[in-house]
This record gives sequence, structure tokens and C-alpha cells, in this order.
Amino acid sequence: MLPSLFISHGSPMLALTPGPAHDFLRDLGHRYRPAAIVVVSAHWATRGLAVSTSAHPETIHDFGGFPRELYECQYPAPGEPELARRLARELNAVPAARGLDHGAWVPLSLLFPEADIPVVSLSLPTTWSSAELVELGEKLAALFRTKEGDENVLVIGSGSLTHNLSEMQEQGTPMPPWVGEFVDWVHEKLTTADREALLAWEQGPHALKNHPTPEHFQPLLVAMGAGGRAQRLHHSIEHGVLAMDVYAFA
Ligand code: ZN
Repeated sequence: MLPSLFISHGSPMLALTPGPAHDFLRDLGHRYRPAAIVVVSAHWATRGLAVSTSAHPETIHDFGGFPRELYECQYPAPGEPELARRLARELNAVPAARGLDHGAWVPLSLLFPEADIPVVSLSLPTTWSSAELVELGEKLAALFRTKEGDENVLVIGSGSLTHNLSEMQEQGTPMPPWVGEFVDWVHEKLTTADREALLAWEQGPHALKNHPTPEHFQPLLVAMGAGGRAQRLHHSIEHGVLAMDVYAFA
């Protein structure tokens, strides 16, 4: 059975620049062969829940100031309108024509470079409470893992374990304690399945310094709800303050 995944996508340059997280994601894709992917990205934040019904979601270059090479990247994976409409019905989500933002296509281009697995984007309803986001994950799991069988759908939450862009340093700068303490705290709470602490994650050490806004942490809550026991598959740090941790919930 597939786990759900939380992936830290870091800077969009992750798509092109080899390094620990880039290399890890390239390897990780070899472990799975899902029939479809449902991705919740930090970069499609909406008030209520929306789902993309696009048959051919475009690659969205939703960033500025990067090399031309990055704007030329395309991730032409198909959508799956039928699955999307089912999610709209079951989750009471608003159907939308939406492409793949970089929170979706950057990690997917490393995991599944062939772009041959259909992808459905689900928005991140930022006004929802942590408990509601975990519940959304639980509903996804219930839809895909029924008594009749497992539909082999990979649920991915794409954000960043820490994400304070105004504190970014040069590549290779070691992680400051205020980042490390939050990373360690999340790891402990996930691996001991301390749901109560995670629902109140804003009270974790330096939580609000690591996440001045919540949207890069919230996909973790959806992934957590969609899977079982947490396992950290990867840890590295980029620009001193972007923790690139990847978790599987199996
Ligand atoms: Zn991001």
C-alpha cells in the first residue's frame, strides 16, 4: 500500500540543481508506481476547497527572478478529470481549471520525470483549522483505501518543513538553532504520533519564526491525515533556513 508523503519543495531551483534533496527525490520516485497522484501544494491557497479538473494542466511558473532555464521547464503530466470530479463531489470541493504550480511540478519532475502519471491538484484551504486539514487527509485515505481495495493513489502534501524566506542565507550556511529546534520538535511529535501537539503546531518552538505564514506547513497536516505512522525519509537544509525534510506516512 502506498504511504502518503509530505515533501519540502524549497526553492524552485530544486528542479534543476543537484544536491541532497534533489538527489533524494530522484531516487524516491523509483519506489512507487501510483495509478494517480493527488497533490496539495502550498502555492494553491484558497479560502474554500477547490479541485482541478483540467485534463491537461499547464505548468505554472509562479515565481520571479530565476534563470530562463527554469521558465522553460515543462511538466506535461495529464490530469484526471473523472477523479477530480469525484473528489469535488465527495469532498464538496469547487471544480476549477488549474495547472500545476511549482509546489506541485518541481517535486513531481524529480519523482516521476516521465510525467506519465495523472495528477489532480487539490487546493489548500488556508482558512481551515489544523484539525480540518488533518480530516481532509483522512477523507482522502478513506476514499482511496476502501474495503474493496486500494486504488493506488499517491497523496502528496508539498510545502516546506521550515520556510522563512526573509532569513535565507547563502547555500551551505549551517542551520541556526531556531530552525533546528523546530525541525526536531516536529520530528519528535510526528514519530510519537502526538496529534494534539501537531494540531497546535504554532505553539512549537520558534514555529512562527519558521513559518511567518502557515501555508508551507499546512500540507504536512493533510499528508499526516492521509496516512499512518510517520517516518522521516530525508533531512537536509538549503540556504540555512529551508529544511527539506520528507516524511512518509505509512
Ligand atoms: Zn513553496
